[in-house]
Amino acid sequence: MSDFAQTVKQQADIVKVIEGYIRLRKAGAQNYSGLCPFHKEKSPSFSVHAVRQFYHCFGCQASGDVFSFVGKIENVTFPEAVRIVAQKCGIPLPKREFSSPEQAAEARQRAKLLELHETATAWFEEQLRGPEGAVARGYLAGRGLSAEGIGRFRIGYAPDSFNALRDRLSGMADNETLRASGLFSSKEQGDGTQGHLYDRFRKRVIFPIANESGRVIAFTARTLETGDKAGAKYINSPETPLYSKSLVLFNLDKARTAIRQTEFALLVEGQMDCISAFLRGIQNVIATSGTAFTEQQVALLRRHTSNVVVNFDPDAAGSNAAEKSIALLTEEGFTIKIVTLDGGLDPDRYIRERGLEAYTAALRGARRQSDYLIERARQTFPGASSEQKVKAMNYLLPHIRRMPEKLARDQFAADAAQKLGIDSAVLREELRQAALKRRDHIEVRATALNEVERVLLRALAITDPENERTRRLAAEAMVQQPAWFEHLGTFAAMQALAVRQANDPMDAVQDPAQRALLAEALLGETKPPEESEVLSAVQEIQERAIENRQRDLRSLIAEAERRGDFAELALLTQQKLELDRALRQLHNQNPPER
Ligand SMILES: [Zn+2]
Repeated sequence: MSDFAQTVKQQADIVKVIEGYIRLRKAGAQNYSGLCPFHKEKSPSFSVHAVRQFYHCFGCQASGDVFSFVGKIENVTFPEAVRIVAQKCGIPLPKREFSSPEQAAEARQRAKLLELHETATAWFEEQLRGPEGAVARGYLAGRGLSAEGIGRFRIGYAPDSFNALRDRLSGMADNETLRASGLFSSKEQGDGTQGHLYDRFRKRVIFPIANESGRVIAFTARTLETGDKAGAKYINSPETPLYSKSLVLFNLDKARTAIRQTEFALLVEGQMDCISAFLRGIQNVIATSGTAFTEQQVALLRRHTSNVVVNFDPDAAGSNAAEKSIALLTEEGFTIKIVTLDGGLDPDRYIRERGLEAYTAALRGARRQSDYLIERARQTFPGASSEQKVKAMNYLLPHIRRMPEKLARDQFAADAAQKLGIDSAVLREELRQAALKRRDHIEVRATALNEVERVLLRALAITDPENERTRRLAAEAMVQQPAWFEHLGTFAAMQALAVRQANDPMDAVQDPAQRALLAEALLGETKPPEESEVLSAVQEIQERAIENRQRDLRSLIAEAERRGDFAELALLTQQKLELDRALRQLHNQNPPER
């Protein structure tokens, strides 16, 4: 680790940094816990140690320091994580901070791509204000957008030209970088090479897509043409080093504060719906940029809330997408409510035609997911025949099975039985079967640590020089008599700690299961152990090792007697006597406190 990273690590508070991403709750004198952002869970198994500055998840074994956390959650390289943490803590950055030339090149390219997107955004905005932007301005005005709203979302216009943007950006970057930006297209030539770059977005209204920090990383472009030559209604930036469609939730950068305050997110389908709702004061609104909701998007959202109100377009495709999203959110333990707007309107039109108050009322009247699904089941399979009822039930069962909480499943089943007019006992039996087959999400810890292991692990993990003697007592016992410790579940961790070079004990232990045990020991710690505690722990281990050996000898002796092997018997008996003596001596030195 570089000096700079070292400095940042010393100044950064891992609790504060992690709290910027997930909610943490104080769980002990020095530790905090929360829902792990790296795996699905309902009850917290993610811990952060405030003093030792590490995090550890007992569910998925994710573990590390502040940089590893930021690197993992932001999906960035180590140097970028260092920079992000430095920025969060207000530590000025040195000029260069990359460990390899590849990383440096990658970071340079990302920086350049961000710069290109920023310049393109400003340029599109300029075009919208210019004479060529008149039709686009008319379209936006028709959708009820003010100049202020347009500015807030940095909406722009791509003129009807194949090279206007290319000419604007060509002085800023080489061809390869321009190609990587996704802002341009090219046609494959006869010889298989790519031809000249030309502007991807033409004669379209441009909506920038920003990452969670508000930097523009891609665009959505809506056509202004109608009829045959219009092409696709919307086209998007392709996947680029900056942008991956499945990793972005549209408007999360602007909505995240409001989502935390209102404790729910309003999820809409289209960007226009999102912009419209946001500008009219519903600021906790986000959109999937397309139809399918991905697991990564769910994970992104969970950092801010676990309550979602879904308001998708009421057309058939919308309902389908809504159901897919609901299924995924349910599996992840979200609480979901569904809004269906009457008159078959989408959110944008509903707000414009009926006003904000009517829309807010519709949000308040959002139905629970179970009610929504039962209603859909009734509409899809109408009629009172038992055949229809079974079909309705089979439609609902997969949804019920997905719910992580048993109570919610029971409630859902009871509601469905009542509303579908099905004998509850029948549905409950079906549900029981469905519930049986679903995976259990309860997290089980690998091994429980015993008290002796706790004391030794904590002693071996001592870092302050004041308690160095205590650490050395434990380390020397380990190094001198490794055989005594071999039967312990944490032997590998202890060995790694006893000979560790790294200052940070968590860095010394590589094996994930062993790290988990060490983390458990350290998270329960209030102060380092006393020398006397270490001494009696070492003695207890020695005794246990001797007792184990005695047990082995007893069965070997019995075996030798059966075989009539008297030479072997004499040897084994001698060994056993020696062990008995050693154990007695140990007891006389330090009588056990049992
Ligand atoms: Zn986890």
